[in-house]
Amino acid sequence: MRICVYCASSAKVDRAYFEAAEKLADEFAKNNVEVVYGGGAVGLMGVLADTMLKHGGNIIGILPKFMVEVEWEHKGVNNMIMTDTMHERKAKFMEDVDALVALPGGSGTLEELLEAITLKRLGQFTKPIVILNTKSYYEPLLRMFDKAVEENFMNKVHLEMWKVVDKPEDVLDAVKNSKPWDKGMINFAAVK
Ligand code: AMP
Repeated sequence: MRICVYCASSAKVDRAYFEAAEKLADEFAKNNVEVVYGGGAVGLMGVLADTMLKHGGNIIGILPKFMVEVEWEHKGVNNMIMTDTMHERKAKFMEDVDALVALPGGSGTLEELLEAITLKRLGQFTKPIVILNTKSYYEPLLRMFDKAVEENFMNKVHLEMWKVVDKPEDVLDAVKNSKPWDKGMINFAAVK
């Protein structure tokens, strides 16, 4: 299985977020999950990559050339794919993966997650999306989606595009138990 992980570049966040990223990488390495991630060396990205490498797990970084120019890439990750643009990078994150997992993060992580959700709503991306809600970080966003449904900006079925878990140990089960999705979901994309 290959899973793309979206997560923070910030190194200033609470320990609990680092511990969750580390535990997730433990789980993935133990279960032979190959990880695709943003290629960074710092923050939750750094811990994720360091822990995968420590266990001899497979990890692939994808980052745009301009980030390599400022030396943001993780030097220990041999499998590093460089893209010309951020758009190309985001598209590559979603290619040939079996699932996406979003850990807490800032604007970059939120954008990546929301693009994936938008494409899934349109049937253009059909794989499971799991949100790791460490320290209830994602509550405001989840409330926002509830509000979007309440106010008829989205359909109730759209809330089934992702699964939310509190603990990294529950991520793989959530991937396995995700609601099946296919290109035909375009027919349910519009609010009727
Ligand atoms: P954020 O959740 O806002 O920290 O965004 C994570 C995303 O920020 C990554 O996917 C990158 O696009 C970008 N990013 C910001 N800082 C770095 C960094 N030092 N190394 C690699 N990527 C970074």
